[in-house]
Amino acid sequence: NKIEQEYELTKTLGKGKFGSVVICRSRATGEEFACKTLLKGEEIVHREVEMMQHLSGHSGIVTLKAVYEDAESFHLVMELCSGGRLLDQMTKEGVYSEHKAANVIKELMLAIRYCHEMGVVHRDIKPENILLTSTGQMKLADFGLAVRILDGQSLSGIVGSPAYVAPEVLVGNYSEKVDIWSAGVLLHALLVGVLPFKGNSLDAIFDAIKKENLDFSGGMWDSVSRPARDLLSGMLTRSSSTRLTATDVLRHPWISFYTERTP
Ligand code: ADP
Ligand code: MG
Ligand code: MG
Repeated sequence: NKIEQEYELTKTLGKGKFGSVVICRSRATGEEFACKTLLKGEEIVHREVEMMQHLSGHSGIVTLKAVYEDAESFHLVMELCSGGRLLDQMTKEGVYSEHKAANVIKELMLAIRYCHEMGVVHRDIKPENILLTSTGQMKLADFGLAVRILDGQSLSGIVGSPAYVAPEVLVGNYSEKVDIWSAGVLLHALLVGVLPFKGNSLDAIFDAIKKENLDFSGGMWDSVSRPARDLLSGMLTRSSSTRLTATDVLRHPWISFYTERTP
């Protein structure tokens, strides 16, 4: 088929619900890319292709290079993020310095703000879906759950990873603010190395998300600055209307302090 005429498919990078991701090398130039194959048959797969086409081009979002289509699948040829997933970097590094955490959140927020400006809610912000290039630049990936928001319309349907899901998703009516909540969950994990809302079952996790308030009294918070806690509270505000927007996060003093100076 056409993609194999132009690319040599080499190593597998990941396997997901709807397909797999492999490294592919251009036969013409030798350049390497990542190829995500999505099995057709579900409407949701068409949406992922559309979203990538709509958003690709921002420096914080994985670039789509080409799409090949055959009877069974779509093959998305994307830029290769050879630095792996943010999740793996977090596992390796443990707790992040505030300087590093602020830079991660800033890069992520620039990408999220772009999505929101383009009328798209990602709905699956988590460190498995944040990739790194060979030079360590962050790229938001996996638009498989992304949707467009039409003016003033709210979204429904429970999606995303349990630990990262915003409380209003569990109730039913939500907006692009769900991405800010999920990024707040990530910030919590970066600052103290653990997730904010935990439980032994799905129900227990959802219960914690709906009811548990942030508690900064534990010893692990002693070394976390007040501005960092303030930003975290603003992102993990249960009421979505008072929760910070992407622009608010980017303007927060903690972000400016750590990203506008060298370490
Ligand atoms: P899924 O919808 O199945 O979660 P993803 O788009 O998140 O699919 O891709 C699954 C995994 O494949 C990612 O977590 C990552 O490890 C790898 N991957 C995806 N896209 C790329 C890419 N452009 N470069 C490098 N690795 C990638
Ligand atoms: Mg994914
Ligand atoms: Mg997906």
